[in-house]
Amino acid sequence: MENRILGLHHITAIAGLAKQNLDFYTKTLGLRLLKKTVNFDDPGTYHLYYGDERGSAGTILTFFPYEGARRGSAGTGMATNIAYAVPADSFDFWMDRFEKHKVIYNKPSEKFGEPYLTFLDPDGLKLELVVPKNQDNRVAWETDEVKAKVATKGFHGVTLTLRDINPTAAILTDIFGYQLLEQSGNRYRYMTDAVDSANIVDLVQLPNEARGLGGAGTNHHIAFRVKDEETLMQFHQKVTRSGHSITNKIDRNYFYSLYFREPGGVLFEIATDNPGFGIDEPWDKLGSGLLLPPQYEPRRAELEAVLPKLD
Ligand code: ZN
Repeated sequence: MENRILGLHHITAIAGLAKQNLDFYTKTLGLRLLKKTVNFDDPGTYHLYYGDERGSAGTILTFFPYEGARRGSAGTGMATNIAYAVPADSFDFWMDRFEKHKVIYNKPSEKFGEPYLTFLDPDGLKLELVVPKNQDNRVAWETDEVKAKVATKGFHGVTLTLRDINPTAAILTDIFGYQLLEQSGNRYRYMTDAVDSANIVDLVQLPNEARGLGGAGTNHHIAFRVKDEETLMQFHQKVTRSGHSITNKIDRNYFYSLYFREPGGVLFEIATDNPGFGIDEPWDKLGSGLLLPPQYEPRRAELEAVLPKLD
């Protein structure tokens, strides 16, 4: 653990119906609901967090669900695929499960020597399960129906679709410490050796593809991980020095963040490990109550009345 980018921290996407999103990610996919809070910039909507037992960086997928949201469409300037690492020999289990739950999926295929299985969430967000070449030793969260021998272990990586990969690649290599690992056609795989998992970013170059349109079923931003606030502020300097504008440090209650839009159009965040998800709930009760940051606590009754019911 050094003053480097430590792979992915979390990934945030937009959803439609909150309950549908909750059921898909906690039941069908078997993730843990880590936190039920509100969008700090729009407190009349939820912010739902899913991940492993303690919400370890590199396992955290979060959603802003908007009832009646228009469907977005994936395109350039967007993260277009979220890949989870799963154990070898788990695809049969997952295909059976997808059949049973009417999840749209493709037959398994392979890229860079790794088998993968693509599927869509109920809003059309594209995800995939990957059996990584290097064994993933993270401990999976398990549920009654999704046991550890088949469960997701957290992110494998993320794919960004871009008209021109070069300016984005420069951010990854020159500022974030990633290296080009492999290339196949228009897909360029970047990896950091700072961590063993959630360490891959694929850049796919599609010069003539339309720009992505934000909405339900599309990515909102991806967050890279640093260990603490001191490192976070070192990256503030690095990004600023490279000529890109970046926000000041923002308190997200469970981590501290900086945001900047990389030149390819994707919103990047850098987020800290501290203070983590145990700050306002006991570990065994994560996700059980509606958690509000201090500025919204006086409005609890009003917010609880407008937020959709989840049970
Ligand atoms: Zn974020």
